[in-house]
Amino acid sequence: MSVEVITAPAGRAAAGRRPAAPQPARPPGHGIRAVVGVLADGTPCYAPAGEVVVAGSLVTCHLCGRLLRSVTAHLKAHGWTKQAYCEAFGLERGQSLEGPETRKRRAAAFTARLVFDPSVREGSAAGRQRARTGELARDAAAAARGRPIPEQRRRKVLRALSAIPPEVVTQANAERARRRLAGAAAAAARRAGYPDIGTLVLARTADGASLAAISREAGLHKDWLSRHLGQVDPAAAAALRPLRQARWDAAWRPALHRLGFGDVPSYLRERHLAQHWTASAIAAEAGLSHHAVASALRRHGLAQTPHVAKRHASRQRAAEVAARMGFDSIAGYLSQRRAAGWTWQALAAESGQPASWIRRQAAACGLTGPQPGRPRQPAPHRRPKVPSAQVRSLTRVSEPYSLCSTVPKGLE
Ligand SMILES: [Zn+2]
Repeated sequence: MSVEVITAPAGRAAAGRRPAAPQPARPPGHGIRAVVGVLADGTPCYAPAGEVVVAGSLVTCHLCGRLLRSVTAHLKAHGWTKQAYCEAFGLERGQSLEGPETRKRRAAAFTARLVFDPSVREGSAAGRQRARTGELARDAAAAARGRPIPEQRRRKVLRALSAIPPEVVTQANAERARRRLAGAAAAAARRAGYPDIGTLVLARTADGASLAAISREAGLHKDWLSRHLGQVDPAAAAALRPLRQARWDAAWRPALHRLGFGDVPSYLRERHLAQHWTASAIAAEAGLSHHAVASALRRHGLAQTPHVAKRHASRQRAAEVAARMGFDSIAGYLSQRRAAGWTWQALAAESGQPASWIRRQAAACGLTGPQPGRPRQPAPHRRPKVPSAQVRSLTRVSEPYSLCSTVPKGLE
């Protein structure tokens, strides 16, 4: 492959010489051309990839930057085919590499051949027949399979997409996803011999089949119905909900019977919300996993509080201290004492609680910060802490000096 690379003359080297004789006007397509990019294999590009640069009736050659009436005819000079050229520079295979006037002349010549040349006439008729039956489009799609998308098409798609408002794109995507799910559901129901997916699911669950089993039988992913039934058939999903709840709660039945509870929600409400048991404690009592308890709480719409037992104990302790001091709440007790100028130590001594606990309670009630009328005292000056790595290096450095200082005067 011979590529003509024309570079600009160095300005500094030309300085000091006598002025050059005026050059004759160059024909179009000749002269200094700038390289606008380099392909992955190092081939320089004189026109942007994915673009055909047309100036008047001339087209720029990507390989040498010359302006030509027909780059297709010129490619032989580089030893390239049009297909290789289009692939290398990200152009569509059908992209014309000729100027508008050349294209017009070529079309006119071809029209005459189409009328007078029997072979061209027959070929054109066969091609139009293939296009009419859709055979041509099918063959083109099959041939294009696995071929990378040309840069030119990518840019065209991006231009078209950028002109559409994002909310319209989102809406269209959601609509397409919904149609795809509905299509998959209808096909699965048809395969199983049912009129629609809802009828299939209700009939099979009445026989005791799980949603995962029905999904598998219908040739879908095992989670397909769990995920999408509510969307493709909300009525069937609603009818199924009590059945599914009952199946999930079946594992709880022995424990509920033993403990004297009628159903799972009343048991969970009593233990977690009223008695402040943690999920682990409930799991231990019911003989189920922590995951099963968390899942049941979620399923029955009961909010799970983490560390519920400790939090409840902490609240109780605060309430007890406040009641002993004659207050309704710990916040009331602390705010009253702090407003009267009590220190944390004094509060700790009075309540019989550690000062750290008092301060933590005050922080939880939003009572920390400088007291009104008592500006915060600056902290006493402390020696900055030296990092241990520095201490080690200082120790190493000081050793020779300490040795030197012990050398007797006479031996210096
Ligand atoms: Zn060229």
